[in-house]
Amino acid sequence: MNYLSQLCRSIQPYQAGEQPQDKKYVKLNTNENPYPPCKGVTQFLQDFESERLKLYPDPENKALCDKIAEMHGLKRENVFVGNGSDEVLAMCFPTFFDRDGNGVAYCDITYSFYKVWAKMFEIPSVVIPLMSDFKFDVSAFKQAKCQGMIICNPNAPTGAIVNRLDLIAIIEANPEKLIIIDEAYADFCNCSMANYVNKYPNILIVRTFSKSYSLAGARCGYAVGNEVLINGLKTIKNSFNSYTVNALTEGIAVKALEDKKYFSSCVDKIIATREDVSDKLRELGFEVLPSSSNFLFVRHSYKRASELYFQLKENGVLVRHFTASRIDDFLRITIGSPEEMKVLIQKLKLILKA
Ligand code: PMP
Repeated sequence: MNYLSQLCRSIQPYQAGEQPQDKKYVKLNTNENPYPPCKGVTQFLQDFESERLKLYPDPENKALCDKIAEMHGLKRENVFVGNGSDEVLAMCFPTFFDRDGNGVAYCDITYSFYKVWAKMFEIPSVVIPLMSDFKFDVSAFKQAKCQGMIICNPNAPTGAIVNRLDLIAIIEANPEKLIIIDEAYADFCNCSMANYVNKYPNILIVRTFSKSYSLAGARCGYAVGNEVLINGLKTIKNSFNSYTVNALTEGIAVKALEDKKYFSSCVDKIIATREDVSDKLRELGFEVLPSSSNFLFVRHSYKRASELYFQLKENGVLVRHFTASRIDDFLRITIGSPEEMKVLIQKLKLILKA
């Protein structure tokens, strides 16, 4: 067996949340949006001529890049799109980090795919622990010895946010390092740094259509940043696959961006539900970490998270339980519709009473 296949076999891959096909659950385990995509998306699908599928899509996805650029007040050259933000993030590793460099810094408790990509591309990891209250250690990131860093903001699975001034302090303390900000959940707290891309050539903002635009199934994500960074990503992409975003997905994503009103109404509803459910969970004896996202990270005062996870599943409610140390007594609960959250609270009441 050669060295690379040995490496691949030794990697512990990222474990995505369950997508059960057996029965219908109240599905609060993968941070999907409970609301459907906007009407423009439905219309686009109805009008789409299947004849178009005989041709390859635009390898540069110009229509979508232009729409994204317009939204952020940038140029097409500042935008890179991919098959979900996972793909965009994955491509960042071979593009920007060296095997024999100082490594990529990220938190100990954060999106667990970062460590898989680091291992896969043999980039050293510089793991910076969150503080004891699960807050981000700003001064450790300011001083980190690394080639670059990935900051998930708001963080997953904690939901905590690094405020703009702290982020700017980190960016300005590290002008020679690449700072990737994973904004998968940023629309739920309006904290995007995308409009700082022209000011700071060392930041790359990675975003997704999966959460706030209700398009997880369409698989579309993007990065915005300085043209030099974007060109680097394009080189790597075009060495893997010229057509990462298919014609249907490109059209769908363009339509989703056109309906700002619907987008905001869904985000607002999710935030309102989040606040309401947080209160209800606290009444049931949960510690609820402050969340700037579309999920809550909670721990019960006496009932173990692993037991709660299984009992909820038996009762038709799926949430996420991670077994990693420091967080194995927490559950991550996606904010669904008010009706779904009502079922969650009812089932928790039953379980906790038993
Ligand atoms: N970043 C974070 C923090 C996430 O939680 C997710 C979703 N699992 C992603 C990126 C990837 O999302 P997608 O590939 O659906 O765009």
